[in-house]
Amino acid sequence: MDVDGKYEPVIGLEVHAQLLTKSKAFCGCSTNFGDEPNSNVCPICLGMPGVLPVLNARVVEFVVKMGLATGCTIAPRSVFARKNYFYPDLPKGYQISQYDEPICANGFVEIETKEGKRKRIGITRIHMEEDAGKSIHDVESDTLVDVNRCGVPLIEIVSEPEIRSPQEAYQYLHQIRQIVTYLEICDGNMEEGSLRCDANVSVRLKGESRLGTKTELKNMNSFRFVEKAIEYEIKRQIELIEEGGSVVQETLLWDSERGVAVPMRSKEEAHDYRYFPDPDLVPVLVNEEWITKVKAMLPELPAQRRDRFVETYKIPKYDADVLSTEKPLADFFEGVITSLATKNEETYKLASNWIMTDVLRVLKEDKIAVENFPVPPAYLGSMINLIVDGTISGKIAKEVFEEMIKTKESPRAIVERKGLVQVSDEGAIEQAVDGILAANKGQVESYLGGKQQVFGFFVGETMKAMKGKANPKIVNEILKRKLAGYQP
Ligand code: ADP
Ligand code: ZN
Ligand code: MG
Repeated sequence: MDVDGKYEPVIGLEVHAQLLTKSKAFCGCSTNFGDEPNSNVCPICLGMPGVLPVLNARVVEFVVKMGLATGCTIAPRSVFARKNYFYPDLPKGYQISQYDEPICANGFVEIETKEGKRKRIGITRIHMEEDAGKSIHDVESDTLVDVNRCGVPLIEIVSEPEIRSPQEAYQYLHQIRQIVTYLEICDGNMEEGSLRCDANVSVRLKGESRLGTKTELKNMNSFRFVEKAIEYEIKRQIELIEEGGSVVQETLLWDSERGVAVPMRSKEEAHDYRYFPDPDLVPVLVNEEWITKVKAMLPELPAQRRDRFVETYKIPKYDADVLSTEKPLADFFEGVITSLATKNEETYKLASNWIMTDVLRVLKEDKIAVENFPVPPAYLGSMINLIVDGTISGKIAKEVFEEMIKTKESPRAIVERKGLVQVSDEGAIEQAVDGILAANKGQVESYLGGKQQVFGFFVGETMKAMKGKANPKIVNEILKRKLAGYQP
């Protein structure tokens, strides 16, 4: 049954990002992760009668940064509302959130489609809210509740239903993650739950303009799971409709082990939360002057940095994408660039190559962040300088690189200590070349007979004879000269 082209998936994401503030949104309790359960609490975040919440100004600063970074309009006046529901991990019986007057609205992020085109995904709104506690369902005992997380500030970023495939959803989420981490307002860790994503999914016949009934997917704690869960749900909905059924609006939980989404509870309608303005909190007022100040604090954003890398350093778009993924990696790359003695397209590309292959490999193998990479960018830069000025060959550089990681010495010190300086002495290289050509008469014949590939063999043999230390450029020149004038 080929129904792939018949339906169009429609996806909207709701992303929660936990803000990196030291204290909670409405009280002075610590937000520290992993502390003893129920130790970071006070009458305010426990919702005792008679207490008054006071908004943490940092929360407003952070949400406005996100709003500005995504082209949102910042509301001069926004309002906190109570979202009422009953659950053991919510001692107050309501969550402080924003409802019909959120602080940011009408923004967008740009993603790249499968066809390589840039596409804008609209952001409906970004609002501030507080987190709930955590229920721990112990297998042996009863359910335990840890309320340390109650009152930890979150922002919720709601997209327009403009995402059209699981891959676009992945891209969108990736952009959001990049932006919050560049802004340093959230650590972006999906596995630990500091970034959470709910996916709303529906399908409709191609050409149809009305939206189909959606379901909401929850519990995907990695990028891949978001993509997989959406893929699964699109397929399920299409099959259901093809069989004559219809989609029921409900919430589904992704089960990553079985690779299926299972119904949680039928989605209550929005008014069941009985939202109303929180009488304990005054409206949030922000003026132009302050917004301008926050704007001035914004760092260069990931998409801008990526484009600048292509523009300034002329590196391929692919490289720029990878290098700008994380701010510390982008900083590392530019740290290398700064210490290059010769700055041109060639050396920039060399820097990119070394990071993309060697540095990233080590980070992956040792499971470390680039901030903890043992070699400072300036050392990698001077190592590249040694390659460019002919002191070492690219091959020897690999050895120097590994040694730098081990001993943390400068590349120059390693080259000197281990005697790795490249031999550019023409006499010595000529001697080696003569020996190789004399020992491989048959190969010389076939080269002169037109078998070009044999040239590489001569280079390899000469390098071997010189323990990898011969300057390859000079080896090539001498070989060419000798072979051209070859007399058997
Ligand atoms: P709800 O009232 O269920 O919270 P909203 O209209 O507030 O729904 O939208 C929540 C999210 O669901 C948004 O990201 C929005 O883009 C997305 N969404 C809304 N309707 C649909 C639909 N029919 N199909 C897919 N996504 C949708
Ligand atoms: Zn508290
Ligand atoms: Mg909603």
